[in-house]
Amino acid sequence: MANHRSSFFLNRVLRIFQENGLFEHPNAQKAVLQAVAYGCEEQDCNGGAVLEDVGAALNICYSCLQAAPQLSRGGLCLACLEKM
Ligand SMILES: [Zn+2]
Repeated sequence: MANHRSSFFLNRVLRIFQENGLFEHPNAQKAVLQAVAYGCEEQDCNGGAVLEDVGAALNICYSCLQAAPQLSRGGLCLACLEKM
């Protein structure tokens, strides 16, 4: 059972970063990948919930939690889209 409270908290923090232009920083994708990895591995977060509405802005797939050159309109990388 994922830690929903931590997932929503981390998602809100990422939204604040996005709203304040921090996603324009050249290291934004790397930083968000690290934050998601920390949330999922150390805090039992649900990666999809953490990335909701923010992952696509940085081309991070909400299913496999990896960066991809291109995402579907729904936010999935092509490999995950093919598995559906
Ligand atoms: Zn994927």
